Amino acid sequence: MVERTLTLMAVHAHPDDEATSTGGVLARYAAEGVTTVLVTCTDGRCGDGPGGVKPGDPGHDPASVVAMRQAELEASCAALKVAHLETLGYADSGMMGWPTNDLPGSFWTTPVDEAADRLAELIRRYRPDVVVTYDENGFYGHPDHIQAHRITMAAVAKTDIPAKVYWTTVPRTAFAEFGKIMQEMGVEWAEPDEPQPQLGLPDEEISTWVDTRAYGGQKFDALATHASQTENIFFLQLGRERFTELMGMETFVRVRDTTDAPLPEDDLFAGLR
Ligand SMILES: [Zn+2]
Repeated sequence: MVERTLTLMAVHAHPDDEATSTGGVLARYAAEGVTTVLVTCTDGRCGDGPGGVKPGDPGHDPASVVAMRQAELEASCAALKVAHLETLGYADSGMMGWPTNDLPGSFWTTPVDEAADRLAELIRRYRPDVVVTYDENGFYGHPDHIQAHRITMAAVAKTDIPAKVYWTTVPRTAFAEFGKIMQEMGVEWAEPDEPQPQLGLPDEEISTWVDTRAYGGQKFDALATHASQTENIFFLQLGRERFTELMGMETFVRVRDTTDAPLPEDDLFAGLR
């Protein structure tokens, strides 16, 4: 019998999302011999530019932002030992409500079916056993994250190949812990002015808890490659050890499963090996 290696595919919206929400599982499963594939849907052009110039400000040149973020993405993949990086190259749509949402070529205005066909082709090529993406709100409502969710679910339906599909999530208890640590460190932690919809899930609704603390250093290094983006600096201020403490457990909701592996589980590949 020929042994086929297991394959994990993570579908993300922007360069840097792979590090924050799935850096641990990408590093851990690569170390365990799993073939890892990262699909990044957009080019990140609405991010901060070289020298910290903000989108919309004079001197924010989308082409140079894209080039910088592509190089950062490749360095992040090297840190996480991602075997295959695939970029779909759609234009970053910016935050919900930005005029960039509706620009031609934006990921948000791309018909779901069209982008899903391209992703389905990658699923047929790599035949992932496990696919990971965001929930239907893209975790926090960013249009590109919502779109990544939509095209992933459509591509999975078109191909019927992955045995398991997961959505990333964060336990509510982790948010509380995060706020506490930030306060202790004296890091400026702006409470939103308006009440926000609750992010993450109560612990009991989380199906899958993957311990990636042994790979916290790699996850930190991957995030550090994206230090050009202000929101990431926030996490880097924690330092390696506390970052690992806080971000070392990666959590998911299992939404498709053909293995009948009992829940809760501690391995995305439970039932497959
Ligand atoms: Zn993102």
